[in-house]
Amino acid sequence: MKPNRGLLVVLSGPSGSGKGTVLKRAMQKNEQLELSVSVTTRAPREGEIDGVNYYFLTPEAFQNLLVEDGLLEWAEFCGNFYGTPREKIEQRLNEGKDVVLEIEVQGAMKVRAAFPDAVLIFNLPPSLEELKNRLIGRQTEPPEVVEKRMNTAVWELSQAENYDYVIVNDNVEDAANAFLSILSSEKCKTARN
Ligand code: 5GP
Repeated sequence: MKPNRGLLVVLSGPSGSGKGTVLKRAMQKNEQLELSVSVTTRAPREGEIDGVNYYFLTPEAFQNLLVEDGLLEWAEFCGNFYGTPREKIEQRLNEGKDVVLEIEVQGAMKVRAAFPDAVLIFNLPPSLEELKNRLIGRQTEPPEVVEKRMNTAVWELSQAENYDYVIVNDNVEDAANAFLSILSSEKCKTARN
């Protein structure tokens, strides 16, 4: 890592694993962390705000951004496209800020290839049963989408071994602390590692 360059941190985990909640708690505890706001072609859920939760784009606008090389990574997930806008991330890392990407597995692997120094963390739900309960319980998706996301989750769980760290999220506070501890250790690494 270049001196004074911020850490690029990836947090992945199946839909319903609670990674967003863990991240929210971690960011309350460490206000220096910056969360990247992704672009997506998915329709906004109730309560989601454009520019806060995501930048909601038409498929054409997403495609244009992709062609202009405006995305640091991107992926298709359960029929929608998601991507990380490149420009702001590069700028913040160069300013020494630690930036967190909350993204799915295919995108995470693209980050790994393009940024070997990135720290990849996987958020595990306590069990598949619990994952399904959470996905159904939050009532943000119709049953057929829950089914699709559950099937994707099984594959995603098999990819956890490709990450640098795994956090088991059976308690948000503990998981947020584990996340922040990983970042602290990474910042203390010497050039040997
Ligand atoms: P959701 O539709 O539930 O908000 O997100 C679906 C999945 O897409 C989640 O696993 C979420 O982390 C992931 N995701 C969100 N933004 C991005 C992004 O910019 N790139 C990639 N590859 N995945 C993303």
